[in-house]
Amino acid sequence: MYKHILYATDLSEETDYLTNKVLAVKELTHAKLTVVHVVEPMPGYSYAYLGIEDIEGQLIEEARATLGKLCDKLGVDKQNQRIEVGPTKSKIHGVAAEIGADLIIVGSHGRHGLSLLLGSTANAVLHGANCDVLVVRLPE
Ligand code: AMP
Repeated sequence: MYKHILYATDLSEETDYLTNKVLAVKELTHAKLTVVHVVEPMPGYSYAYLGIEDIEGQLIEEARATLGKLCDKLGVDKQNQRIEVGPTKSKIHGVAAEIGADLIIVGSHGRHGLSLLLGSTANAVLHGANCDVLVVRLPE
C-alpha cells in the first residue's frame, strides 16, 4: 500500500509509543522507512548568553546519537537516518519530497481547541503535504 514512509521524530520521551506504531505500519506495508529529526537553528545571541561554542553542532551530534539508537530498533540503516537543520515543517516536507515519501507519520499531543486534535507540528506538516499524513495521538 505505502512504498516509502517518512517518520518525523522529536526524539522526546513519547517517542517509544510512536515508534511502536511506526514499526507496526512498516511491518504491515513492507514499506521502506526513512526517519528524520529536525534541529531548529539557535539564535546567534544564545552562543554568547550560554557561553557554549557551537551549540548547534553539539545538538546535532546528540540528536545523531539518539536517532541512531532509535533507528536500530526500527531496522533503519544510516543512509535513511536524516538530521536536518532549519524550520521543522519545511524540512520535513523537503525530505518527504526528496525521497518520494507516500506517507508521513507524526505524533500529536492533546491540547485544547483545534490543537486538541492536531498539535502544532502535526498541523503544520498536514498542511502543504503532498502525500498522506498519519497523525498518531500520543498518550497524555
Ligand atoms: P509537537 O507539535 O511539537 O507536539 O510535535 C508533534 C509531532 O511532530 C512529534 O510527535 C513528531 O512526530 C513531530 N515533530 C515535532 N518536532 C519535530 C522535530 N524537531 N523533528 C522531527 N519531527 C518533529
